[in-house]
Parts: sequence; C-alpha cells; structure tokens
Amino acid sequence: MPELPEVEVTRLSFSDRIRGAKVTAVRLGKPLRWSLGCDPRSIVAQTVGEVTRRGKYLWLELDRGGLLMHLGMSGSLAFGPGSDAPGPHDHFDLVTAKGTLRLTDPRRFGAVVWSASADSGAAAKLLGRLGIEPFDAAFDGAHLHAALRRRRVAVKTALLGGDIVVGAGNIYACEALFEAGIDPRTRSDRISRPRADRLALAVRSTLARAVELGGSTLRNFRDSHGAAGAFQAQARVYGRAGEDCVRCGASVRRIVQGGRATFFCPGCQRR
Ligand SMILES: [Zn+2]
Repeated sequence: MPELPEVEVTRLSFSDRIRGAKVTAVRLGKPLRWSLGCDPRSIVAQTVGEVTRRGKYLWLELDRGGLLMHLGMSGSLAFGPGSDAPGPHDHFDLVTAKGTLRLTDPRRFGAVVWSASADSGAAAKLLGRLGIEPFDAAFDGAHLHAALRRRRVAVKTALLGGDIVVGAGNIYACEALFEAGIDPRTRSDRISRPRADRLALAVRSTLARAVELGGSTLRNFRDSHGAAGAFQAQARVYGRAGEDCVRCGASVRRIVQGGRATFFCPGCQRR
C-alpha cells in the first residue's frame, strides 16, 4: 500500500514536468473508490498549476479548482510523453500538451475527485480530519506530547491513527519508536515530554529518509512504490523478528497490536 513517502516521491517525479501544461482530454476507466464529481469535459482546456501533497493525497491545481488524487491500496501515478491507449488497470488519464498523467490501479481503491479548491467542497471533506504534516515546523515534541496526553491507547496505535500526525504507517511507526527508544505498547498519556521530543524527531527523520531512499531508487515512473521496498531493506526492527538488535544485541520481537504486526527491541525500547 502506498504510504506518505511513496506519495511524496510520486509527486516529486512529475510535479515540475506537468506544471503549466494545458489539459487536452480526460479519459475515465472503470469506477474508482469515489466518482470524479464533475463532467470530465469541464477539465479540458484548463492549465495545471502546482501539485502539492497532504497526507497521502495529492492536490493537482487547475484554473477553476483542482483534482484530489489518492492511490488507495494498489494505485500508481505515472506521467509520461504521448498517450498510449489505456490498459485494463488504467482508470484515469489526464492528457495534457506535455504528456499524460495516468492512474493505474488494479484494485480500484484509489480515486480522483474534482473540488473547487483544496479547502472547500469534496477536498475539505476528505482532508479535514487529517493530523499535522510530519515535515511541518509546527510538528514538534510539544505538539505531539499534547496530542498523546489525550489518548489512552498504545503509542504505536495512536501514531497509526493518522489524526495526530499523518504518514506514520506501520513500517515507519515501528522504526520511529525504535529510533526514539520507546516500547510500542507504552500508553500514549504516559509518554513524557522529553520522550515526545525524541519521538517527534524520529517520526520526521524516518519519513525523510524514506522519501530520500524512494527518490534514489525510483527507476521509472511506473515504479513509484520503490520507496517502501528500499526503506524496508534498511529497516532496523520492522520484519526482523528473531534477529539481533543492531543497537543492543537483544532479539527483535514481533507482536500484534490492533491487528497489525509490531516489531520492537525489548532491550532498548522502554515503557
Ligand atoms: Zn536493542
């Protein structure tokens, strides 16, 4: 499933190239998770502006509004020259004078939704409940500590929720907690301010590293899920149950929290 770093790597892969391109056609395939919400012909002749990211959503600005895009479980976006006929899993094409932006999504949990602006209409509804961006300067230990104090669930579960901070998906939450030396089972409201400081830094640096790795391993624009793979190969606890901890030598453990696998080191991650 594409996580925040993969979405950011995808954005970086085409945002500069598509800026200023005039839309010449819109092609729709099979229905996606949500409908487009406008007549596709109304998008033609509009010009693409900035492509920005919020959580795992991309916002592609157009003259009279924009398109909110989500990759769902299995989607990928590719921007390339020309406009080959869509394949069986290609369900949205934004054909422009500079090339075609294509959403390929075998499971069709992804979506492309028209909205009059990023902070009104359909976009506001979908983005409204998201937590703060991990790379936002306002995301720091004080912010995280205040949010965690209101939760009684395990800190890892709180991170995965996405309503405190976006982007800490399963791999990244496990790795950030390892980085910060915090046991993933620790109750959120028992995390001290100094530990929240360390955790906020760890979340940010873990995600930044994943974006960097994704960018460096992105071979072509069809392979935008390379980020998770490259990151996982370098993960220090995720997927490493039974292996020796790189920091203290204890055996890495796997447990299940809220139906998701958690990996941690019982030696150097404390409650
Ligand atoms: Zn350890």
